[in-house]
This record gives sequence, C-alpha cells and structure tokens, in this order.
Amino acid sequence: MPIVASPIDSVLTGSNGESWQQAMKSAIRDGPTLCRKLGLPESHGRAADCSFPVFAPLGYVSRMRPGDPHDPLLRQVLPRAEESIDAAGFLGDPVDDQAARVSPGLLQKYGGRVLMVTTGACAIHCRYCFRRHYPYHEGPHSLAEWQVAIDAIADDPTIEEVIFSGGDPLTLVDARLAELAGTLAEIPHLRRLRIHTRLPIVIPERVTDALLQWLGNSRLVPVMVVHANHAAELDASVARALQRLAGAGIMLLNQSVLLRGVNDSLPALTELSHRLIDLRVVPYYLHQLDRVRGAAHFEVPLEKGRALVKQLRDSLPGYAVPTYVQEVAGEPGKQIQFPAPG
Ligand SMILES: *Cc1c(COP(=O)(O)O)cnc(C)c1O
Ligand code: SF4
Repeated sequence: MPIVASPIDSVLTGSNGESWQQAMKSAIRDGPTLCRKLGLPESHGRAADCSFPVFAPLGYVSRMRPGDPHDPLLRQVLPRAEESIDAAGFLGDPVDDQAARVSPGLLQKYGGRVLMVTTGACAIHCRYCFRRHYPYHEGPHSLAEWQVAIDAIADDPTIEEVIFSGGDPLTLVDARLAELAGTLAEIPHLRRLRIHTRLPIVIPERVTDALLQWLGNSRLVPVMVVHANHAAELDASVARALQRLAGAGIMLLNQSVLLRGVNDSLPALTELSHRLIDLRVVPYYLHQLDRVRGAAHFEVPLEKGRALVKQLRDSLPGYAVPTYVQEVAGEPGKQIQFPAPG
C-alpha cells in the first residue's frame, strides 16, 4: 500500500496536541479485557502471574484482527502461560546491561556511542522485551540527577552520539526531552542524537509539533530508530506520523525482533520491509531474540533466521534488507548473523 498523502491532521497537530497522553491513560491493562475487545474468550487472556502487566493502547489494538487468537500484534502483547516456564539459558539480564553502566543511567558498550536509559516507562509492553526485568527505579529522573552522566559525556571526546533509550524515551514530555537534548547540544564533540522509540508506531499522536521542533531543530543530527515487527502495525495513522518525522529532516530507521509466530516467515518479513520503505523508513536491524526469562516461546533458531534473511537478500533491494544481529554479552558490538557469519 502506498503512503497516504494527507493534509495536516488535526488529531496530530491541532489543539489536542497532548492526545497521546490520553491514549496512554486509556490503554488496556489486562488480558481478559484485551480478549473481550477482540471477540475472543476472556479465558484466553488469563495467563499465570504477571510481574510485567499487559499494556496495549487502543489504537494499536484496533490494528489487530478481531477473533484471531494468532494475530501477530496480539501475540506481541498478550501474556501466555509459557511465560512462567523457566527455560534453561533464559536470564533476567541477558545482555549484561549492568556491566556496561558507566554512570547513573548511562550505558556504554560500543565505541563512540553511549546510551541514556531515560525512563522505565513504555507505551506498550512487549512480551519478548529484554529489559523486562531492568532495575529502572535506580536511574536519574531530573536534569540535576543526570548531571553526573552529562559530565561523563562532556569529559570523553571519543563520544560522538548519544542514544535516548529506556523504556521508551518518548513517554517523557517534550519539555523534559528538549531540556536534556539542549544540554547535550552544548557539548561540542557530540554530532548526533539518536532516539530509540516504539511510540510513533504504537501511539502515532506522540509525533507532536513540539517533538518536531526540539528534535528537528537541534544542532545534533537527529536519527530515530522506531520498532515495528509486522506490516500490520504500520497503518495510515502511523504512516502520517512517520511522514511528519521524515518531513522534519529526521533520519528514520526501524529495528525488529525475529519472533516466532509473529514475523518468522518470508512473506511477513518481505511485507514489513516493503511497507517500511514505502514510508521512507530503512529496515536497520533484525534482532535475534535476547534470551530473557519468560520469552523462550518466541525464539527462532539462528539457522532459520539466517536462511530467512538470505532469502530476503535474494528478492529485495539491498537497502530493504535489515542486518540480522545478535547481542552477545561482553562483545564490542552487535554480532552480525547475516550477511557475515557470526
Ligand atoms: C545496540 C546498542 C547500541 C547501538 O548500536 P548500533 O550498532 O550503533 O545501533 C549502543 N549501545 C548499546 C548499549 C546497545 O545495546
Ligand atoms: S517498547 Fe521496547 S523497551 Fe518497551 S517493552 Fe517494548 S521492546 Fe521493551
């Protein structure tokens, strides 16, 4: 489907600019309600204990197929009984984030780039999330509390890029983000500001005028890495949000996770790439699942992943094929699984 060329959308830009916060408030927070909305038996949504509760905004739920228990979007958010099975090798902190902590809230694993864990909040709870057990409450909350991390960045001229991550940084209000971004822009050796976010996909209303202002007009080159796993996530409302971001000069990339029952097929991955390119988003990474406790039922074997990406490579333009990567604790970069062997 081609991009929907729309006139200015009042929901996105008008007086109702904070409607994304409304969408957060009205999100579905339990499995039975989610199933009822989709015309599925409530019992289908009653999984065992859940320290990581359901969180699914209504707009995202509206892209699911009613009555389909195997819907690829539903599978990303609905807990299953398998989550409570302890699978060997699936851990609380599979990528060893704690070892990469250089200051409060600041992680550095790779050269030239640091990652700021800006918040623990997300606009959706993805059942496969590798940070589902991350100790977010320990991190900085105000600009004053960020000062130690900011000083560490200022003192290290090898750092060229700051990545806002989380959680999801775009759950913070624009005033807070603009303040933090403005402070970073004063550090002369920084060149780029990257945002890792799923919000333009789950709540496209989050792409406010204020966001385009502080990010699009920063001295730092803005890069946004969104996160969609299936073409059905990219409906017309998302298309408009992405079009606004691209129009503000923000480089757009996507990262996906290879997920059993969601996108582990050639047609699903092909359609995702086509749809992303239609929306001017470059498919950047396809991640091998991080082996986090509770997510074993999403794992796709590496050999199958490599074969799928090779098939994509044979049928799509090179720029539409994501790099298949795996995060290995202690390694100085993500390990490429395709095109080069790991
Ligand atoms: C993935 C990641 C990055 C970014 O890596 P790129 O290959 O540049 O996308 C940076 N820091 C940490 C800690 C990461 O996990
Ligand atoms: S949006 Fe990202 S950080 Fe948040 S639950 Fe989903 S995968 Fe995890």
